[in-house]
Amino acid sequence: MPSILVINSGSSSLKYQLIDMATEETLASGLIERIGEAEGHASHRVGGQRFDKDLAVRDHAQACRIMRNDFDTHGPSLDEHDLVAIGHRVVHGGARFFEPTPIDHVVKIQIEDLSDLAPLHNPGAVQGIDAAEKSFPGLPMVAVFDTAFHQTMPPEAYTYAIDAELAQRYRVRKYGFHGTSHRYVSRAAAEFLGRPLDELTQIVLHLGNGASACAIDGGRSVETSMGMTPLAGLVMGTRSGDIDASVLFHLARRAKLSIDDLDELLNKRSGLLGLSGFGDSRDVQSRAADGDERAQLTAAVVAHRLKFYIGAYQALLGGVDVISFTAGIGEHSAEVRAAAAGGLERLGIELDPARNAAVGSGISVISTDASPVTVLVVPTNEELEIARQTFEVIAAR
Ligand code: ADP
Repeated sequence: MPSILVINSGSSSLKYQLIDMATEETLASGLIERIGEAEGHASHRVGGQRFDKDLAVRDHAQACRIMRNDFDTHGPSLDEHDLVAIGHRVVHGGARFFEPTPIDHVVKIQIEDLSDLAPLHNPGAVQGIDAAEKSFPGLPMVAVFDTAFHQTMPPEAYTYAIDAELAQRYRVRKYGFHGTSHRYVSRAAAEFLGRPLDELTQIVLHLGNGASACAIDGGRSVETSMGMTPLAGLVMGTRSGDIDASVLFHLARRAKLSIDDLDELLNKRSGLLGLSGFGDSRDVQSRAADGDERAQLTAAVVAHRLKFYIGAYQALLGGVDVISFTAGIGEHSAEVRAAAAGGLERLGIELDPARNAAVGSGISVISTDASPVTVLVVPTNEELEIARQTFEVIAAR
């Protein structure tokens, strides 16, 4: 029974999951945090148990050794589970990578070369790949890119209306992110409905700490709300989403904010946090329900932006068959779903309040039976999608 190890490596953390490809079950998972700091932490979960330890983790190579050691000590045995490959999550694949790609020396350099587009993400991924190569010499490795699914967008969707030569020289265009999730959810929705993927137009709303919308025509991404970086589009936990770029010029001139200040403002201190003082959607919802006006405005801005994208994507797709909500907020917040997709009956979207309130685990329909557009809640599973894509690449070799 072959298994795949999925690694999601950031600059200071390494998450992993071992997935059995016959059952698609997670056999074990873990997280190693605060790599490079004086005090780090490792946790390994297997069979309902969790093994935690505090220890300094010097670098990603040591993190990989800790992971390997935890598999040896607490199980499951990687040999018995026939580990056939490692799938690495890589945030930015630029315009170069449009499918899962076997990792070799050249691919690693190319991922590194894309670091100027994703300075917070790609270097960590390369460190994770290097470390895994040391801990698992000879094991095939595959890079699965967050941007790859959106490489099917047409030029009119990904082109910004700025100086074309400058944009080309600095690779400025829309790339889009969360592609692994949008791909997984759109396929799961089609399968759940028993409809051929290539006949469906879909909108996927991935609403977690980071959030993005995607318009999908016949299984292909044709538009998405994040841009050259994950800052654009919907209102997120700490990111502003769409904003008039002149706001930055204004704040630089009048508030004397530097480029780094502005970067931090829009990426770390905006969105739910900037508007309400709380970066977690649950806090915003509960305070809004208690009558807090800042929280109420925050919730209204979030819903307004979501409606804006739902309407825009319906127009771009020439009508939509399925809208799916996913990720932390999309899967768990009936309030956000109702605020985003409620009141859109004239667009053919008829939510069923009782169904929306009663969503359990698994895929749920939250529209009425008569609704022309089917609205679903689909739990995402990015690790499984990475494992599937990695397995396909390995099987095809
Ligand atoms: P990430 O993008 O970090 O993977 P998640 O997909 O886990 O994030 O989503 C995190 C968001 O989901 C948080 O804003 C949190 O408030 C929200 N969330 C998680 N559980 C619930 C819940 N039961 N009800 C409402 N919101 C929830």
